[in-house]
Amino acid sequence: MTADEKRSLARLLDTAGDYLRDGYRRPRAEYTFTDDAFKENGAFKENGAAATPPGMAAPTPLAANSPDGAAPDSLFAVAAEVLHCSACPLHSGRQNAVPGEGVVHPLVLVIGEGPGADEDRLGRPFVGKAGQLLDRMLASVGLSREKNCFIANMVKCRPPGNRDPLPEEIAPCSRFLARQIRLLKPAIILCVGKVSAHALLKTDASMGSLRGRFTPYEVADTQETGGFTVPLLATYHPSAILHDESYKRPAWEDLKLLKQRLRELSPDYEAGA
Ligand code: SF4
Repeated sequence: MTADEKRSLARLLDTAGDYLRDGYRRPRAEYTFTDDAFKENGAFKENGAAATPPGMAAPTPLAANSPDGAAPDSLFAVAAEVLHCSACPLHSGRQNAVPGEGVVHPLVLVIGEGPGADEDRLGRPFVGKAGQLLDRMLASVGLSREKNCFIANMVKCRPPGNRDPLPEEIAPCSRFLARQIRLLKPAIILCVGKVSAHALLKTDASMGSLRGRFTPYEVADTQETGGFTVPLLATYHPSAILHDESYKRPAWEDLKLLKQRLRELSPDYEAGA
């Protein structure tokens, strides 16, 4: 087994354990492995779908029972498929795919554009400088990935040179995000940056014209979850704020708007953060 394969396996097992035990993925240090010969132990099926690892209880489905009798979808299943996905060219340059992390049924689902170098190295979303700023922005309004948020990206593998993901990369990856949104059922979606705002709102309008207000985001009707609507707020990406301080004030205005809506939805939400 290669070091990359072992990292993916360790991350999958830890992710499954975290979701089953705590409902969110815990921050972890980087996994360090060396390549060696590996005898297949049955932790994965041949098609790349996750099987129950030895000694671990089967993952608890997070969705309602599937009406057609098929296995219900789960965040675990999405993460397992992402780790083995090769549906677009980004898979060939990744160290680690980054499915996302946070709590189940979050108050806020934060959606960025794609992993950067630090995220690719660690397999976790928003962990570099921009991620640290995002954590501070969220904390300023009583939110965190440990308590009441889930953080994901439009594409799960790093675009080279940290460029924006291309439409032909976003298209095949959107199915993973769509499943995550249906499973997570967030109270609010926060798009950070124009890539996710454009993709979800199907527009190419400027961030200046999209931010500062909630827009209803319609989640497609499926047999498993039915259709539902989530208020979506778009704001500037933390990396844009780091590069241009003039975005700080409007981003803060957006966060205040977010906090106001969260208090309307759940007056004591900050008590649990
Ligand atoms: S970016 Fe998405 S579609 Fe492309 S290989 Fe990664 S997981 Fe698959």
